[in-house]
Amino acid sequence: MSEALRLQRGFFGEFGGQYVPDELKTALDHVAEFYEKIKDDQGFREELEYYLAEYVGRPSPLYYAERLTKELGGAGIFLKREDLNHTGSHKINNVLGQALMAKRMGVKRIIAETGAGQHGVATATACALLDMECVVYMGANDMLRQQLNVFRMELLGAKVVSVNDGGRTLKEAVDAALADFSENYKSTYYALGSAVGPYPYPDIVRDFQSVIGKEAREQIQTKIGRLPDYLIACVGGGSNAIGLFAPFYNDRGVKMIGCEPGGTGPQTGQHAAPLSYGTPAVLHGFRCYTILDDLGNPAQTKSIAAGLDYPGVGPEHSFYQASGRAQYVTVNDEEALNAFQILSKTEGIIPALESAHAVGHALKLAPTLDTDQTIIVNLSGRGDKDAAQVFKILNQ
Ligand SMILES: *Cc1c(COP(=O)(O)O)cnc(C)c1O
Repeated sequence: MSEALRLQRGFFGEFGGQYVPDELKTALDHVAEFYEKIKDDQGFREELEYYLAEYVGRPSPLYYAERLTKELGGAGIFLKREDLNHTGSHKINNVLGQALMAKRMGVKRIIAETGAGQHGVATATACALLDMECVVYMGANDMLRQQLNVFRMELLGAKVVSVNDGGRTLKEAVDAALADFSENYKSTYYALGSAVGPYPYPDIVRDFQSVIGKEAREQIQTKIGRLPDYLIACVGGGSNAIGLFAPFYNDRGVKMIGCEPGGTGPQTGQHAAPLSYGTPAVLHGFRCYTILDDLGNPAQTKSIAAGLDYPGVGPEHSFYQASGRAQYVTVNDEEALNAFQILSKTEGIIPALESAHAVGHALKLAPTLDTDQTIIVNLSGRGDKDAAQVFKILNQ
């Protein structure tokens, strides 16, 4: 899209922007300027395509889920298999793009924030591949909960820095990474993990993740000779969803549905669904739908899927919501858990608990549609990482 719809650089309608201190603005503008120069550079595009093909294994298949489709008895369901990427999710698409860009900026040190550890592992992977120094900020509490991911990052050569401020989770890790970036932007690149944050990050992450939607758009036309009726993706920060949606933005007949984590209920503190229950506010330097507590601060959130647990959401999704281009629904923990098991049994594919939210909505929608209609579900990641957690839940 997005140029025509923007009131101002970095905005999607009233959402997005750069609500940051001056030092950080200087660092962000430095990145924005370089990104504008490099994004259509042929050498850069070719280098990225090389690694996406040879290292990540793209294009990822668009797989017709025949058994699931028959079982549900409605619309045909196709799965975009981001779970088959190297490292097991869509996150590598973005991180590889940003790391290659950082290399061209002449920077040798990459920093990242991580909550559950998935973005940290993806960043550590790209840094090992490209021989760059990697520092990952992680809340001390998250480090305790995710010891195996801390080990993975260290195994990949990254340094994991424990953040001991505040609640010692993702929010504080973001603040620590931003502080480092403000101070060291001439020698350090900040690789942000989702389509959130101040401008230019939502644009950069959308562009690198758009490989998902571009491939899917071609693949579905090859397979069925036309565009799909529905796109479904889970929404945490919103990067896998915007990567699927954006290339279909102008295809007005294609409906888009983003699935937010409904957690254990609609009360504040029980979910992580800002597009469904939030209000526009500034969070982490950009304006988006945000879940606020009674005092107007970002509220506690909850989801069975660690990767969806964030009180804000990307500005472009906020704009899609406000303008009605996409619809956003909630899928709760129980429905996601059910979808996790159903996809495993019917297709032999164990989805990530995040992706199981998208599958969960497809299970509801498909039977209400005609058999000549088509749904593409973004399978953002594989579920091996969640098997132990689900085992515990099902056996308690
Ligand atoms: C991180 C993650 C998500 C959520 O992030 P988005 O930016 O909303 O895509 C979804 N699925 C998987 C498998 C993830 O690892």
